[in-house]
Amino acid sequence: MIIVPEKVIPNLIDRTTSFKAVEAVFAAMSNGDAYNFPVIRENIGYADALYGFKSGFDKVGLSLGLKSGGYWPGNESKGLTNHQSTIFLFDADSGKVKAMVGGNYLTAMRTAASSSVSIKHLAREDAKILGMIGAGHQSAFQLRAAVEQRKFERILGWNRNSEKLSRLEAVAVELGLPFEEVSLDELGAQADVIISITSSFAPILKATQVKAGTHIACMGTDTKGKQKIEAALVAKATVFTDEIAQAITIGECQHAIADGSMTAERITEIGAVISGKHSGRTSADEITLFNGTGVGLQDLSVASDLVKLAVKSGDALEIEI
Ligand code: NAD
Repeated sequence: MIIVPEKVIPNLIDRTTSFKAVEAVFAAMSNGDAYNFPVIRENIGYADALYGFKSGFDKVGLSLGLKSGGYWPGNESKGLTNHQSTIFLFDADSGKVKAMVGGNYLTAMRTAASSSVSIKHLAREDAKILGMIGAGHQSAFQLRAAVEQRKFERILGWNRNSEKLSRLEAVAVELGLPFEEVSLDELGAQADVIISITSSFAPILKATQVKAGTHIACMGTDTKGKQKIEAALVAKATVFTDEIAQAITIGECQHAIADGSMTAERITEIGAVISGKHSGRTSADEITLFNGTGVGLQDLSVASDLVKLAVKSGDALEIEI
């Protein structure tokens, strides 16, 4: 079995590799070549943790496996990231375990790649202002990946605790972009693209706050009960997702489905846009919303590429089991 330790991963995987792997696997899902198995995600009743498994199989890329892990909200105070995960890959011909890969950095990279794929395919070409809701660990990764898709000139930020926005401001400064803390009203009125990445269980952004033509990437909602966006905004938008089954059960769409303001038939998988089966945005005034719930195949496809890079660079450890 090949082991790729967490500490070597940031030097091996880059945003381009992550983006290409995620874009390709979304297309494979839409073409019926790859599918995710049902997600297990449990509130384990200890340390406020959510823990579970995401898994799947890509018949073309031959990625088979699972990501095990979850979210420990108290970790940051101990100097650890709140997300903790490990990815296991299996040989699709024999079922033998192939690799064990640290999943923390990869989760952030594949999640950022997902919203970045949505911006590439759904945001207006002339988007200039990026609004960030949330300033936790994932947010900096989201910001770096997003700015590669459009010629953004300004970054706006909102977070429940204002002081945490220094994380995003530092990234914006490094990217040479002006950063401003704003109210949600200002953010919605100005931003051409909005990324929401918080752990909230109540709506933050309202339908009336968002201007026409905006693209919204809702990335934080990946569990039953979580919510960042008012259901009326989801119902008003043209909605895309990584996987419909997850969007309606654990994603941002669960609330609009539950209150009857939308149906699953109105949701399009982004893979259909990537593979040219759906035209994506159809007008400059349309609000497009990507509900990125995070699928196991994202982890498996990026991890498969990473294993090849680690073997090539000599960073992979190999053991007999
Ligand atoms: P983090 O703990 O580092 O940061 C959490 C952020 O959410 C902070 O900005 C915090 O201020 C904000 N927040 C928490 N509760 C809030 C509330 N009630 N109202 C408003 N803001 C609130 O977490 P992170 O690593 O940045 O991850 C953020 C979220 O994204 C998590 O919930 C995580 O489960 C989710 N996530 C989703 C995917 C995916 O693929 N969709 C992948 C990774 C993480």
